Amino acid sequence: MLGLMQKQQLLTSNLLKFAERYHRDTEIVSRRVEGDIHRYTYADFAQRSRQLAQTLDGMGLAAGTRVASLAWNGYRHMELYYGVGGSGRVIHTLNPRLHPDQVVWIVNHAEDEVLCFDSCFLPIVQAIHERCPTVRQWVALCDADKLPADAGIPGLVAYEAWIAGADGAYQWPEFDENTACGMCYTSGTTGNPKAVLYSHRSTVLHAYGASLPDVMDISSRDVVLPVVPMFHVNAWGLPFSGPLNGAKLVFPGPALDGPSVYALMEAEKVTFAAGVPTVWQMLLSHVQSQGLRFGSLQRTIIGGSACPPAMIKTFQDDYGVTVLHAWGMTELSPLGTVCTLKHKHLALPADTQAQLLAKQGRVIFGVDMRIVGDDGQDQPWDGKTYGDLLVRGPWVVADYYRSEGASPLVTDAQGRDWFPTGDVATIDADGFMQITDRSKDVIKSGGEWISSIDIENIAMAHPAVAMAACVGMPHPKWDERPVVFVALKKDAAVSEADLLAFYQGKMAKWQIPDAVVFVDAIPLGATGKMLKTRLREQFKDYALP
Ligand code: ADP
Repeated sequence: MLGLMQKQQLLTSNLLKFAERYHRDTEIVSRRVEGDIHRYTYADFAQRSRQLAQTLDGMGLAAGTRVASLAWNGYRHMELYYGVGGSGRVIHTLNPRLHPDQVVWIVNHAEDEVLCFDSCFLPIVQAIHERCPTVRQWVALCDADKLPADAGIPGLVAYEAWIAGADGAYQWPEFDENTACGMCYTSGTTGNPKAVLYSHRSTVLHAYGASLPDVMDISSRDVVLPVVPMFHVNAWGLPFSGPLNGAKLVFPGPALDGPSVYALMEAEKVTFAAGVPTVWQMLLSHVQSQGLRFGSLQRTIIGGSACPPAMIKTFQDDYGVTVLHAWGMTELSPLGTVCTLKHKHLALPADTQAQLLAKQGRVIFGVDMRIVGDDGQDQPWDGKTYGDLLVRGPWVVADYYRSEGASPLVTDAQGRDWFPTGDVATIDADGFMQITDRSKDVIKSGGEWISSIDIENIAMAHPAVAMAACVGMPHPKWDERPVVFVALKKDAAVSEADLLAFYQGKMAKWQIPDAVVFVDAIPLGATGKMLKTRLREQFKDYALP
């Protein structure tokens, strides 16, 4: 017997309609590429998103057409999310930090037909447009009078002129919630980029899940600052969970340095911010060196790579800001787990709580996870035994777009499909997951595994260290031995011997790195993560002491 309830498709346009109807005067504030601050309301945003949808209809773009963006976080980018997806097309967020050749490869693979870009990315567009034959419309996200003259891009239009002809009298179409609405290529730090194709259903369910109290706890009293870029897995879904809750949104544009992020936070009274550890490192350095305080910031979600416990402690103890350590992937829309305590943990001593909160945390309802050994058998949930992490759920990838190969999923004995994450993890009896490493980064020494993340976290706890990346180097006897690459804080000093001594007592002797290599900077990838592949290349001739 079927239930007798109304059927309403879960569409992203419904998020916009809700925000427009119930939170019409709530603001969206953006630092623009032009440098100034732009502010408008959810009502303005909805009107302009409809104008954009009409413009796309006017071009005769078929349902499912990919419209690409090459843009920082801002209100026009948000309009693209909704105008493109809501009208039945697919918003494809391109990462401008990739090499232009990679951008060309991705645009051609996705067969993008429109490409909208912030004017600061004009040089990239000039370098690639002739190699992108599927793109029939290039749009600069700027005012008509700011359109660069003789840019050399045939048919280039300014976004404002492009949508100005539409009046916004538009009905959002209703269609199957399984229709695609967004596309994001994995950042490819460990291989070729692969296309994840989000549906309206997966996006709306993820927005619900992300809002929960044990996840991001977003409300209409929040002012949300996604520092994580909208081209990095949809800024972790915040452009969707913001409207779902009627939260004020603040977009930082291209200014991700500590002073700019801090100034925006204070001016707009941000309560909740999201970003990768390297970005928060810049913010903390600024706040510490200038002796500043956070006036309104209550909590921050940190993920994308392991958040060093020292960073969690600094935010918490020195500034009273709660850190939510989260784990996810492009393939998970991206949220899989977030770390918050359970009721039974509240009476534990502070340092035991801190150990728990350093983990990547518990799954959000909807996502399920398991860890398996080399034989595919489940490993015990004892917080010590590690295994390959597998996940499943309504916002987890089922296949890649144009994968033209074997399914990425593995099927268990009950016939359920799981996505292998490529991460190695432990899970404890309470369901707290901790990433030990990426399977490609884990160091294999004499048949035992050493976690590169553990080694990095200890180095990061040393007051002189700004950033640390640990890599396994080939060793004739042990196969591999850990070497830690360290960038020091400005004007700070520590010797190799002193840093190695700092490891004593913090991990087993055989897990302590064989050497410290001091570098000016750790290479970062397109999403701000440490690029160990680059370090391995750079130091391929390095000889262990
Ligand atoms: P890519 O795999 O191409 O870098 P993603 O941006 O989707 O693309 O990265 C997902 C990966 O980032 C995860 O599989 C995991 O290895 C790593 N990661 C994400 N969050 C965390 C975290 N909190 N701790 C440790 N690793 C993390």
